[in-house]
Amino acid sequence: MQPTHATIPQPQKIYLADYTPPAYLVRHVELTFRLAPKATRVIARIQFAPNPAAHSRDFFLHGEKLKLIRASIDGTPVQPVLVDGGLTASVPDAPFVWESEVEIAPIENTALDGLYMSNGMYCTQCEPEGFRRITYYPDRPDVMAPFDVRIESDLPILLSNGNPVERGAGYAVWHDPWPKPSYLFALVAGDLVAERGAFTTMSGKDVSLAVWTRAADADKASFALGALQRSMLWDEQAYGREYDLDVFNIVAVSDFNSGAMENKGLNIFNTAAVLASPATATDMDFQRVEGVIAHEYFHNWTGNRITCRDWFQLSLKEGLTVFRDQQFTGDLHGHAVKRIRDVIKLHTRQFREDGGPLAHNVRPESFVEISNFYTGTIYEKGAEVIRMLHRLVGPVAYGEALDLYFDRLDGQAATIEDWLQVFQDATGRDLTQFKRWYQQAGTPQVSVVKEYADGILRLTLRQHTPPTPGQPDKLPLVIPVAIGLLDSEGREILATQVLEFNQPEQCFTFSGFDDAPIVSLLRGFSAPVILRQENTSEELALLLAHDTDSFNRWDAGQQLARRTLAAMVIDNAPPSSTYLNAMQAMLMNEALDPALRALILSLPSEEDTAQNLALAGQIPDPDAIHAAHEALKNHLAEHLEAVLPGVYAAMQVDAPYSPEADQAGKRALANATLALISRTDHGQAAEAQYAKADNMTLTLGALASLLSIGRGNSQLAAFATHWADDKLVIDKWFALQVTEAAPRRLLNMLNRLTALDTFDWQNPNRFRSVLATISANPAGFHQADGSVYRFVADWLIRLDSVNPWTASRISAAFDGWRRYDTGRQALMRAQIERIAKAPGISREMSEMVGRMLA
Ligand SMILES: [Zn+2]
Repeated sequence: MQPTHATIPQPQKIYLADYTPPAYLVRHVELTFRLAPKATRVIARIQFAPNPAAHSRDFFLHGEKLKLIRASIDGTPVQPVLVDGGLTASVPDAPFVWESEVEIAPIENTALDGLYMSNGMYCTQCEPEGFRRITYYPDRPDVMAPFDVRIESDLPILLSNGNPVERGAGYAVWHDPWPKPSYLFALVAGDLVAERGAFTTMSGKDVSLAVWTRAADADKASFALGALQRSMLWDEQAYGREYDLDVFNIVAVSDFNSGAMENKGLNIFNTAAVLASPATATDMDFQRVEGVIAHEYFHNWTGNRITCRDWFQLSLKEGLTVFRDQQFTGDLHGHAVKRIRDVIKLHTRQFREDGGPLAHNVRPESFVEISNFYTGTIYEKGAEVIRMLHRLVGPVAYGEALDLYFDRLDGQAATIEDWLQVFQDATGRDLTQFKRWYQQAGTPQVSVVKEYADGILRLTLRQHTPPTPGQPDKLPLVIPVAIGLLDSEGREILATQVLEFNQPEQCFTFSGFDDAPIVSLLRGFSAPVILRQENTSEELALLLAHDTDSFNRWDAGQQLARRTLAAMVIDNAPPSSTYLNAMQAMLMNEALDPALRALILSLPSEEDTAQNLALAGQIPDPDAIHAAHEALKNHLAEHLEAVLPGVYAAMQVDAPYSPEADQAGKRALANATLALISRTDHGQAAEAQYAKADNMTLTLGALASLLSIGRGNSQLAAFATHWADDKLVIDKWFALQVTEAAPRRLLNMLNRLTALDTFDWQNPNRFRSVLATISANPAGFHQADGSVYRFVADWLIRLDSVNPWTASRISAAFDGWRRYDTGRQALMRAQIERIAKAPGISREMSEMVGRMLA
């Protein structure tokens, strides 16, 4: 059969406002896969029915890179019209059965989107729009259906969504009773081994659990299995959500574009987000594995049972699920440290995005490629919006609203409006103004004026959100401002209260004081805003020493550091003695959690300093910023020289390794002090730690300390030899050298690393370990001759031709180009334009560079 071809139009923007319901709904899907690397056959039998809510009867099925072999409707062969992105056909205005057979070549699928191969194993990634590369289908999230899947292959392990039905020689059959959108489809076929476990749900149902890996990784799966069990229990206890299938499978895949994917009953994970053993994974890796396992598991209710109507609503599932995994990690390991780490991530990733050309709403209004919107704004800011809602209504009302959400919308494809309506109905609160958090991009700035007279404290708060692309004027937001007050001795005189700040300017008064109180504002980072207040350094030091809110203690330390760094960069000032003394007092405070001390001792990132200077109207100079950071670290090392060895010694752990918070906190502080000690002892202590370390946290901490002072070459070589067979560990080896390279030597380092045989650039983890890590070395990236810009652009163009998803995300490294001096601006712009004009550039990359240049 020879199908007709229509002309191919140019990629177009899709608008939220243009949403229309699907013309046909799917009642049931039956898929048969005959797996072969170059010619897999996919036979689909789909029951369609006209959608009574539809605006038209136009029948359209998405399909990309498919070879159509045959098609029929109700058993009669048809010749559909192939158009750009899919096909159309004339169909009955009544229920009918569509059948098609297509051929695809998984081994040639380097984009890792749809059905592809990784080390001889078949696997899938369908979110957001990969299913259309598997078969013709209405590949949109508001079309939900139960799936039956038959896999034919000689490979020993054949998995799909739902429950296993039948297994025979060369085939397996799976049935997923829960209606789901196609982006949650998954299939795995390979030679895998399982770490097995079980979970009994709160209603007494037994669930078989398995974490599937290559045989060589079998010893690194037990932590993930435990994390899954903890997640299942927590979701029952915290949200009343029970698992709904007989099995839950997780598969580790080494070629994967993102962290992990929540396919119904068959989660597929990047090996980096699932494998962990003390010898190969750091404490942070353990925490990440547990957090990602929890995140993907929690999607079973927030994402799968209730999904998104369209991709504009992506934050409906992601913001909520990130908030849930943050709650989970906080409950298990302590909220303060988790909150600080999340806010650091928000500052470096989301605030930067929100302040540049890629700024967009938590719910975007338009896009060309939704794959470019898996961003800090959708995920992390989306979670902050839900955290604010939680704070405004309180935990009890939040629980009631969530119960209503699950009751009302289970089995449906929902919108942000549905989500907010649930809160309005459950709490009686009008959320019209609150909704602006979903509709306005940009990070709000809140300034504070404090006046004190006659026992009355008067706070005047002003809010302003700077213009962002397409949004010149902003309306005032509802900002929950958590506040506490301390007296001049550091005693709390007002416990945390939440102010509802919803006007452009608003006054709040507090009375009954003998002296002017010290204000602890935005406790727990109660809103994702930039707070500008005129604290004295002495007030900050007092908050750092005494605030009852751990987050604000850390934040006071960061503000002191920012102020010191800004003065060092702009005025070439010496570091403030208030800061150095405050750090010493903090470090010696044994009542303070070691993990918190480690975080307070760490300077803000160089990216943070650049953002901070840009906010103050300065043009950030990456070299001067780097020099100031280095100088301040040296000053800290000298100022604390007498006390660091004692703290370091007190943080040694004798017990067998455990990734739990108390041990991990000690190792974090041991590594943070070691980094400073190395600046005065020429690496002696770091060499000793490296030699005796029996876990990756201490090994990597020692190596980083050595590299940061220009030593550690023999350790680096020994490390590479020892771990040659472990890809994830070698990724760390690549990344560490990029992070710690002296800026002027970075280009040489990059050329050397990318010339190695082990630089398997088509593997996303390996590519990211070098190319995405460059942004962690800003002074290296921003070499004034533009050589590193060119290097990055060369590699992005190369990767884009095989894997647009990963390439277009890393291109965001250039998004801050307007912040810098005219010389660097011109050099960066030239590289962005070169990418834009590269032959065969993908739609994903084209949209990203277009937005950056607009
Ligand atoms: Zn997610």
